[in-house]
Amino acid sequence: MVIHAPASSTNPSIINTVHHQIVVIGGGAAGITVTSLLLKRNRSLDIAIVDPSDKHYYQPGWTLTGGGVFKIEDTVRNQQDVIPKGSTWIKDRVVKLDPDRNVIITQGGIQIEYDYLIVCPGIQIDWHLIKGLKEAIGKNGVTSNYSSRYAPYTWELIRNFSGGNALFTVPNTPIKCGGAPQKVMYMADDAFRSKSGVRQRTNVKFLTPGNRMFAVPEYAALLDKVIKKREIEVKFRHNLKEIKAEIKAAVFDIYDDNGNIIDEVIYNYDMIHVTPPQSAPDFIKQSFLAAPDNVYGWVDVDKYTLQHNQYSNVFSLGDASSLPTSKTAASARNQAVVVAENLLAFIGEKPLTHNYDGYTCCPVITGYNRTIMAEFDGYNAKIVSSFPLNPAKERWIMWKMKTTALPWIYWHRMLKGERFEGDYIKFMHWKKD
Ligand SMILES: Cc1cc2nc3c(=O)[nH]c(=O)nc-3n(C[C@H](O)[C@H](O)[C@H](O)COP(=O)(O)OP(=O)(O)OC[C@H]3O[C@@H](n4cnc5c(N)ncnc54)[C@H](O)[C@@H]3O)c2cc1C
Repeated sequence: MVIHAPASSTNPSIINTVHHQIVVIGGGAAGITVTSLLLKRNRSLDIAIVDPSDKHYYQPGWTLTGGGVFKIEDTVRNQQDVIPKGSTWIKDRVVKLDPDRNVIITQGGIQIEYDYLIVCPGIQIDWHLIKGLKEAIGKNGVTSNYSSRYAPYTWELIRNFSGGNALFTVPNTPIKCGGAPQKVMYMADDAFRSKSGVRQRTNVKFLTPGNRMFAVPEYAALLDKVIKKREIEVKFRHNLKEIKAEIKAAVFDIYDDNGNIIDEVIYNYDMIHVTPPQSAPDFIKQSFLAAPDNVYGWVDVDKYTLQHNQYSNVFSLGDASSLPTSKTAASARNQAVVVAENLLAFIGEKPLTHNYDGYTCCPVITGYNRTIMAEFDGYNAKIVSSFPLNPAKERWIMWKMKTTALPWIYWHRMLKGERFEGDYIKFMHWKKD
């Protein structure tokens, strides 16, 4: 069933009140998966998903769109087709949370009362935090795979690049898929090498506020080798703060080891792939559900049970949650199992039995035909693997996983709440011989 929003407003007056037993904010990777899992366990649950978007995106495919492997259409389905049967879709945007009254309010003026709330509206892209970026993006060499609108332009730039400065940046905030800023660079580097003389005429630069290529030492060491082999120049402690589109220049702050700004540098670009700053959606930041004293405003949940630290009938997962691990669809899948099981226990007035262990996975594409399936325990920065293979290795088979198996698993298993091996296995901590 779909309920369409009335005429929208940013400060709506209430024109309609409805009640649902469970309300899920956000029908993305996390929201659809957790709803499917809940309904599989109990078809009689009354669940409403609130999401304004007509479309559901497989965002891991945007990297492949930027690399010319996928068309953007390959990453999109109609939201209607992924909404689990038996749930109600309220096609509207949540603008206000009132957890003391168990109520949320939408832009269209619907007041939705709930018994239990699951919060997963994803991450907010803060384009405005880089001066000049909003105006510059999508033309004259400025692009980002962090939007379905611009990912095709990334490929246009890479495909037509004839030499010069190609910059790839990372912001000074948490981001979804920490590996994505470098995946696009390795594909670009391969593409430049495939055209006579282009790579010789090109400086490929990776600029990051961090001081290493990856949070897990084994993957960082491997990526150091990839960088060296590809002759990519890495600038650590560099944070993009401005795009001067009129002169095709990017301005960076330079940090010291304590994060203090010590200098500024300007680099000219012929193409620049920008990973924008990110944070929790504003309506979360402005609510009592946000983690106190956290500038990003994530939903404040227990990192094991995923239950809210103040409001016990509220759970959160996915990019918007405060979980201190890498924000990926892979982690959202594992979190969804924990939320579904713990919410059912909570409804049944039983102790919460499931714990999320920080598992995440970021398949780092290191070139066409090569990928490091970087699985790890984000809570302890420890390498783990779902396969009987050393994950700290570039592999062709993992490229095949990334380009064929994982999208299929997403659409046909994960979103449908079908369980698969990963839900059950105890991820082994990989030991070198
Ligand atoms: C370029 C790129 C590459 C990536 N690569 C990978 C990868 O290789 N592997 C991997 O696992 N992950 C990857 N990710 C990350 C992955 O896509 C996200 O971590 C995942 O989608 C998070 O799921 P989510 O449900 O929390 O958020 P989303 O999937 O973003 O869904 C959020 C939903 O909430 C809705 N919403 C937003 N605001 C509101 C509101 N106010 N009211 C109601 N609904 C709202 C949105 O319309 C959306 O449907 C990548 C992401 C990007 C951008």
